[in-house]
Parts: sequence; C-alpha cells; structure tokens
Amino acid sequence: MRHRTSKKGVVIFAFATLSQFACAHVSVPETERTRYLMGTLCTITLPSAHAAAAERAFDEIARVESLISTWRDDTELSRVNALPAGGRMTVSPELAALLQTTIDWSEQTGGAFNPLLGTLIDAYGVRTKFRIPSAHVVQVAIAESDVDNVRIEGGGVAKNADARFEEGGFGKGFALDRAIAVLKNAGVPYATIDFGGQVVWFGAGSRDVGIAHPLKRHEEAVVISVPAGSVATSAGTEQTFEIDGERYTHIIDPRTGKPLPPAGSVTVYADSAIEADILSTALFVMGPVEGVRWADAHGVVAIFVVPHDRELRLTTTREFINQRVGISRSILTDEEKSYK
Ligand code: ADP
Ligand code: MG
Repeated sequence: MRHRTSKKGVVIFAFATLSQFACAHVSVPETERTRYLMGTLCTITLPSAHAAAAERAFDEIARVESLISTWRDDTELSRVNALPAGGRMTVSPELAALLQTTIDWSEQTGGAFNPLLGTLIDAYGVRTKFRIPSAHVVQVAIAESDVDNVRIEGGGVAKNADARFEEGGFGKGFALDRAIAVLKNAGVPYATIDFGGQVVWFGAGSRDVGIAHPLKRHEEAVVISVPAGSVATSAGTEQTFEIDGERYTHIIDPRTGKPLPPAGSVTVYADSAIEADILSTALFVMGPVEGVRWADAHGVVAIFVVPHDRELRLTTTREFINQRVGISRSILTDEEKSYK
C-alpha cells in the first residue's frame, strides 16, 4: 500500500490491494466459537486443532466477569462499590492492580477517562431509563467520580468519600487481554477474538479491520490494516438517547458530568486490549482536536472518523502514520475525503 501524508499528518488515500494482507494460514482449518459474555457476543477464531483452548478462553472471560461485573451484586467490584465512605476492604491482587491501572489512565488522560463514573451513569439512568438529572444531582455525581476518593494500597481499597466504579469503559479490554494470555499459554499459534466489536489477535501477521460509518452502522467507512494487537472503537452510536430533541451517547465527559452528543467515532490500535479500550473512550471524550494533540504527545495510534457537513473527515495521529497503519479501503467519495 502507498500513502502520502500531508504536513499535518492526515492520510491521503492512494491505491492499495487487499491481497497483500491475505493471511498466511489460509490452508489450515479454522474453527469459530461464540459465547455470550459480559452482555455481548464473543467470537474466537483459531486453528481447529486448538479449538478446545477457545472454551478455556471463554471460561477466563467468565471468570473476569464474575470479578468485575457491576451488573450483579456478588462480584468483588460490586462489593468495593458497596463499601461506604471511610471504609476499607481487602481485594484480590488482580483487582487491586486493575483498579490502579484504571486510575493511572484517568490521571494520564487528564480525567477524560474515569473509572469512577458509577454515580454519574446511574444519575443519567444509562443502564435503566435515560433521563437528565438536576444540576445538583450532577454536581454530587461529579464529586463522587473524583479518583482521589479511592486509594488502592496494601492489597486493599480504601474510600475517602462515596465513589463507585463503572467497568463499561475498561472491562471488555481487560477480559480480552486475559483471554489472549490463556490462548497463548495453551500453545495456540494464532487466533482472533472479536468481543462486541473490539478485536484482538496475535500470530498471523497484519489484519484488515473495518471501521463502521458513524451514521450508517452497517457500512464500513474505512478499513485499516494493522499488525498483531487490538483495535477498539468508541462511537457512542451503539446506544443513543433522545430527550427534547437532543441526542446523547452513553459516553460521559467526567469533567462536565454531561453525556456527549454523537459525533463520529474514534478507533485506537494498541498492543494491549485494555489500552485500546480505555484510550478509545478517552479520545472520544477529548474530541478530534484535543484528542489528536494528546494522542500525538503520547504516541497513540488513532483515527477519528467524524461527519462534517455532508462529508466524513478522517483525522489520524502521527503514530498512525509512523507505524505505517494502512487504510486499505474506504467507501468515501472524493468529496467526502477531507483533510485538515
Ligand atoms: P462500547 O461500550 O460501545 O465499547 P466504549 O468502549 O467507549 O464503548 O465504552 C463506553 C462505556 O464506558 C459506557 O457505556 C460507560 O460504561 C463507560 N464510560 C462512559 N464514559 C466514560 C468515561 N469518560 N470514562 C470511562 N468510562 C466511561
Ligand atoms: Mg472503550
């Protein structure tokens, strides 16, 4: 594939062939297994000789779900959420490390990603019936999402103030990393996992990954080609809510306490699935201007696909180009290609 880049780092399409991304293992029989986990479908594709390992990977995701789901009361994370202000409880080293990782990402992203959104998510009824809460309720919920409300120390979680974790922004990514580790430990040479749209794979060279058109979900706007790793997209279009003619997504800007309007999508490619998951949400919150600036400063591979008047604007980060991520196909017409 050839691509030219403009000064500001936006890819300009050139011709490309898909054949060069063809998988080297086409002659090996492959098996596809699907299980419903964490509220969505998870599909694993791997060589048929290793099909049994897929079941172990699913079991691992189910184990992670029973550690961090806040949709049920019996998980470790739900018990952390139930802990009152001033309380402290011992947690598993795995959960302690995960929560610390999410808090670190919150600090790194200037609070655009925030794992402590539980009270805000409930205030808007994101999981039940969407509503706009009073300004006072929003203020209280913003205060409860302050990451300083929680301390992870000495194998436990301590709360200085009320605060509740929301795993929706990092749970699937974490589970994917664990599932990949299980497959690799079982000696699986290559595999792909698609978990509700987030994809992760290893061992089979570059792959094509389609990015949905932000306004026409069943059409691919762009197909990118990337080496082993994980690709996550945040669009907020899976779930949108309308109130008084305004549309809102399920992604909340923790800094204002407001759900964001649908505004295109951002796709992140990273070595680890949790990183791709967290950063796609964080960059969606930041938006294309602040998001690209932040991503460039942190070496993140990302592409924004944003409707603009009657066209789609694709904006890529510098690392997208440095790592020679290819745009192998695009449905965009010449008029829709837009470069900043
Ligand atoms: P999807 O759920 O479609 O994969 P995302 O990966 O962007 O989309 O995650 C959105 C979910 O993350 C929301 O449903 C909510 O649970 C949680 N969330 C929303 N806003 C934030 C935020 N600013 N920081 C962390 N998590 C968030
Ligand atoms: Mg995400």
